[in-house]
Amino acid sequence: MAAPAASALPAAAATLQATALAAGACHGCALRFAGIRDGASYLRPAAAEGAVCAVCLGVLQAAAGGGDVWWAAQLVGELDGSGYACRGRALNVSVTTPASMLVRDRLMSIHLKRQGHALAVAPVPVKEAARAAVETLVRETLGSTSEQASSLSVLIGWQAADDMGAVLRSGSGEPPPKRQRDRHQWGAKRKPRGPPPQASTAATVKLLVQLGDEKVATFCECPPLLAERCTLSPLQLDQKSVFVAGVYCKYQRGLPQSPWFVGGACTEEDGERIGEGSLEELIQADLCPMFRAALDHRFSSGGREDKDVRMLGEGRPFLFEIRNARAPAPSEQALLAAEQAINAHAAGRIKVSGLRLVTKEHTDFLRSCEDTKRKHYRCVIWTRRPIAADDARLRALGELKDLTVQQMTPVRVLHRRTAAVRPRTIHELRVDRVNEHVLLLDMVTQAGTYVKEFVHGDLGRSTPSLGSLLGSEVDIVQLDVLAIEYAAE
Ligand SMILES: [Zn+2]
Repeated sequence: MAAPAASALPAAAATLQATALAAGACHGCALRFAGIRDGASYLRPAAAEGAVCAVCLGVLQAAAGGGDVWWAAQLVGELDGSGYACRGRALNVSVTTPASMLVRDRLMSIHLKRQGHALAVAPVPVKEAARAAVETLVRETLGSTSEQASSLSVLIGWQAADDMGAVLRSGSGEPPPKRQRDRHQWGAKRKPRGPPPQASTAATVKLLVQLGDEKVATFCECPPLLAERCTLSPLQLDQKSVFVAGVYCKYQRGLPQSPWFVGGACTEEDGERIGEGSLEELIQADLCPMFRAALDHRFSSGGREDKDVRMLGEGRPFLFEIRNARAPAPSEQALLAAEQAINAHAAGRIKVSGLRLVTKEHTDFLRSCEDTKRKHYRCVIWTRRPIAADDARLRALGELKDLTVQQMTPVRVLHRRTAAVRPRTIHELRVDRVNEHVLLLDMVTQAGTYVKEFVHGDLGRSTPSLGSLLGSEVDIVQLDVLAIEYAAE
């Protein structure tokens, strides 16, 4: 059944409203008890009233001079000044009201029933009426719609000065809830500070159900007593993370993937920086400002190459999670412009391509890249033993296929990986002799192969190694990743 319009109330509803008004309810609350759901009626109350409503604590009352509800102007100001570009976009609006209002609402319902009113239509909760008012307000003033599916959440709430939930609880003999003690950083307990928290909505709803009308009206004054006006809580805005995927190539040796700080710290405040710049920062510099998200992001990639290794060919996939972006999601053109800006600013160092918006599930794809790929490398090798053009061991190397290498966890990563012996496959190997001490090595390896260790042997921890196969001490002069193959390809 459609809710009746405010102007055409049946006689029963009109007398019910008159009873509610006489008992200290405001015009908005009188509409609620008559089952009206129209947002505009709640946003623009019939008249400015002197006393604070004993039921909604003023939430549905007009500003002093009349017009919109008293909190409307402040709310629009806060939304507009939040930096989240709320105008014209969909907002996921949530409204919370203090537990006190639930008790007062029940007391007024009991009073109305005792006065002989049938309450044919279920009263509209204060929260629902306030939400209808907010939705009307943002639509009319900001051109914004209210949609649950929106990625930008707006939480609006009010705080009551009194705690009717606690009054009800103490009347019913329920013990007060245990206060959570703060934990001191060394584990010692401290006494909690500040006023005790108000009764929760969940606990109050439970009590109201348990007690029933008779007891509720015994423990509290019915109809509810007049009270102080509630206050509008600070607005809470939350933007869901935006995910931008792309592919990078790295042309500069010595450029780390992410910033490095002494002692594994994560920011410059916590530890001294090692080296200048990083791939992550070069991308971030032109990507993050478009979201107005500053440094609130997380970078991840499908594996990573060492700082001194270049990433060539078609590149490596990466993902930026941008948290709490202030700007709405960018268009394809805007992402292309960001890509061009990154490539112009970081020319010769890195290059990104294919920037696009993806969902959170893309992180699973990146994780799968770490295990299921083959990698193509090219390295420049130095050998201590002079290698002749017709060297027998060199020729034998060229004939190897799917060579299994037993690799103990390298010394250089022992601090972060468990020590173990892992078999890895070198699928293909091609060696070109540049001169008697320099070789060019092309390899296709199984994911997870420690290439540097395969070459120099890591003090016998990687066997066989290129050095053992060649019968010489060898070292890597330069290493490049040429291509990464994924399982899906
Ligand atoms: Zn009211």
